[in-house]
Amino acid sequence: MRILIIEDDKNLNRQLQEACVDAGYVVDVAFDGEEGHFLGDTEPYDVVVLDIGLPDKDGLTILEEWRRDGRDMPVLMLTARDRWSDKVSGIDAGADDYVTKPFHIEEVLARLRALIRRSAGLSTSVIECGPVSLDTRTSKVSCEGRHIKLTSHEFRLLSYLMHHQEKVISRTELTEHLYDQDFDKDSNTVEVFVGRIRKKLDVNCIETVRGLGYRLLAPSSDNAE
Ligand code: CA
Repeated sequence: MRILIIEDDKNLNRQLQEACVDAGYVVDVAFDGEEGHFLGDTEPYDVVVLDIGLPDKDGLTILEEWRRDGRDMPVLMLTARDRWSDKVSGIDAGADDYVTKPFHIEEVLARLRALIRRSAGLSTSVIECGPVSLDTRTSKVSCEGRHIKLTSHEFRLLSYLMHHQEKVISRTELTEHLYDQDFDKDSNTVEVFVGRIRKKLDVNCIETVRGLGYRLLAPSSDNAE
């Protein structure tokens, strides 16, 4: 899962970034409205944290422009305390949720999890696919009751597939949600990660769809490769 954080307060931006990286997300950051708007316009994000008061272009304008251009990723707005009008304007502009400053990082993380979950059509924080279970609160994965230790890239890849079960996901799409904007993306690494995840899970749940990508399915007895 890949997150964009747009916040001009450098300390707050860094705190949010660290917390999101610790939670297993890949994170891009912007410190002004122009850059933030551009990133959200050109890169695929699973969720965006958007401050309202920003230099160059304010958060509400950014959000209105994204929505007008059909960018429909979930957006969590950061609003100043006691500015109820900001919340109303934010929701009217297309925000999916908001957090009032000052906030506890844990609250932001919980709201981000919920937004990602909802946009994937999931209602619980533990996602299951047959014997595989992924707890989005603790970032822990288990299979048939065994705890599965994954690297951060393996976790992000499996988490993306778990959030999009039964859909064919291309290598390009997986790569885009695995790395930040500065990474020299190579979609061949996806194949390596999938191989490692299969070995660790030891159940046949990631199907290779030749020429198209991968699909996560609950294993069944006739699920032959
Ligand atoms: Ca600000």
